[in-house]
Amino acid sequence: DGPLLLVDDLRVTYHARSGDLPAVRGVSFELERGASLGLAGESGCGKSTMANAILRLLPAGTTVDGSVLLHGQDVLAMKPGALRAVRWTEGAIVFQGALHALNPVQRIGAQISEPMLLHRTQPSKRAAATRVAELLEQVGLPGDRASAYPHQLSGGQRQRVLIAMALACDPSLLIADEPTTALDVMVQAQVLALLARLRVERGLSMIFITHDLSVLTDVCDDLAVMYAGRIVEEGRSGELFHSPRHPYTSGLAAAFPTIGDPASRMNPSGLGGDPPDPAHLPTGCPFHPRCALAEDRCRAHAPELSPAGDARRAACLLVEDPT
Ligand code: SF4
Ligand code: MG
Repeated sequence: DGPLLLVDDLRVTYHARSGDLPAVRGVSFELERGASLGLAGESGCGKSTMANAILRLLPAGTTVDGSVLLHGQDVLAMKPGALRAVRWTEGAIVFQGALHALNPVQRIGAQISEPMLLHRTQPSKRAAATRVAELLEQVGLPGDRASAYPHQLSGGQRQRVLIAMALACDPSLLIADEPTTALDVMVQAQVLALLARLRVERGLSMIFITHDLSVLTDVCDDLAVMYAGRIVEEGRSGELFHSPRHPYTSGLAAAFPTIGDPASRMNPSGLGGDPPDPAHLPTGCPFHPRCALAEDRCRAHAPELSPAGDARRAACLLVEDPT
């Protein structure tokens, strides 16, 4: 039957006036039905670009290579009609910043029913309205909130509306791109719990994207950490978070030690410096300018993602050769 999603050697390059920006530089992974993968990394590491590439939501003119098989169909090779059907009904995405993703002058019920009517997954407006009320209750909002406008809801409620909208056509894959970043810590925990519950109840496969590694460990089976457009470490989520092998993962884990601890968020002591400019990547290991363990060879050789024990793979010369 194969995995639900198979991403193979995905490469995405934006073309800016100043030159080419390679945002994703050869990423491969698979996602089984019902499984959840967390993708972590600082902003600019390519995680959102990858999420958007999976549903082909990138700006026209962007170069995308490799393959993305969803239910065995190559998303990158699809004609526009097939692609529209796949979005929403097979795979849906929840973006961060619900305020911008919702239409301010349309009632939320109408916004949630739009994809159902567009893709004819509900036979009538009345059936769609019934489904909207069900969806709202599933995401923890009273069904009568359907008549509210976005500004009448709190940030957390709006994020729940976006989740309801993503679920409207019953997709098998839900991609959540920083779905809780703009929310305060309490509401963030509630939205995460909601996603975890929906995943189990609906047997959803999920890709969960965030810069904060600590929020992923409760929600995801597996984690992949991205740096400069590549996966630098992947493995089972608890193991990876609690005993990282790659120096970048250690830094990221130290930057956000625990969810719900605002003090720890203010002090990202685990990582000094900034991520590299994709147009001018450092030689060798792209992490070397920020890596406390860097050696001379790190400036000359780019490490490959290689087995690092158990279900773990890491792209670090020290992990490959611990002597
Ligand atoms: Fe650090 Fe070298 Fe490993 Fe890169 S290869 S993460 S620079 S030790
Ligand atoms: Mg992003």
